[in-house]
Amino acid sequence: MQTDLTGKIAVVTGAGRGIGLAIAKNFVAQGASVAVLSRTDTNSQKAAEELNALRADSAKAYAIDVSDGAAFAALGKQIIADFGKVDILVNNAGVTRDGLALRMSEEDWSTVIDTNLSGAFHAVKAFQRSILKQQGARIINISSVIGLIGNAGQANYAASKAGLIGLTKSLAREFAGRGVTVNAIAPGFIQTDMTGELSEELQDGIRAKIPLGSFGTVDDIADAVSFLASPSSRYITGQVLAVDGGMVM
Ligand code: NAD
Repeated sequence: MQTDLTGKIAVVTGAGRGIGLAIAKNFVAQGASVAVLSRTDTNSQKAAEELNALRADSAKAYAIDVSDGAAFAALGKQIIADFGKVDILVNNAGVTRDGLALRMSEEDWSTVIDTNLSGAFHAVKAFQRSILKQQGARIINISSVIGLIGNAGQANYAASKAGLIGLTKSLAREFAGRGVTVNAIAPGFIQTDMTGELSEELQDGIRAKIPLGSFGTVDDIADAVSFLASPSSRYITGQVLAVDGGMVM
């Protein structure tokens, strides 16, 4: 999708690969500069190199575990010092630790909630001062259709993604007075490393339930994010956009 984001500063978490990297690439193609956040230095630096090859000096790499609130607060200061402001925040970092709730360990529960849900809260806390100063700023949270419909074996993941939707709607109400919009995207099944871990049999079963008949691509999600980041979406806030081939309707 072509929108003009020239001069905008975007922060994308989990941008080292998959959906996050595709979102960052779209932003760079549209003229924005991107703070590429990933859990490891190697991933964020590799991604930033790729982005800087698309447009010189368009990206800087940062390593962060998004579940660490204190580290995120410190990183937030560093990013504002490096870029001067933040116009767009995309909370994309996420993990799965699947298992039936009956047998799920406390650790698997907490890791997923702390990363997927608290990670987004920490990011908002780290950047909210700057975001609230930018007219037309955007927060976009990457939720999941699983947060809308639940899934056996994913109680932790579903709870974290449903929680992100509650966070989105509350922040949308809190930030609306400053012209800042907050929306969520609920991807269906997208071809990435995360879904690549599923067995062929499971993937076939999922495909059979998708009206459009195939998994989505990372660009399908990145294009939806670009729309929600663009001036064209200025009158949309507190919404959940399902990008899922019609799985949930
Ligand atoms: P992925 O596993 O390829 O990428 C996830 C990214 O998050 C990685 O870069 C990883 O390093 C980062 N990350 C994980 N834990 C982190 C932490 N504690 N701190 C910092 N970074 C961390 O997954 P993906 O498929 O690209 O998924 C991206 C987002 O989209 C996730 O939030 C996921 O839940 C969501 N999603 C994906 C699908 C899908 O089908 N792939 C469907 C619905 C929602």
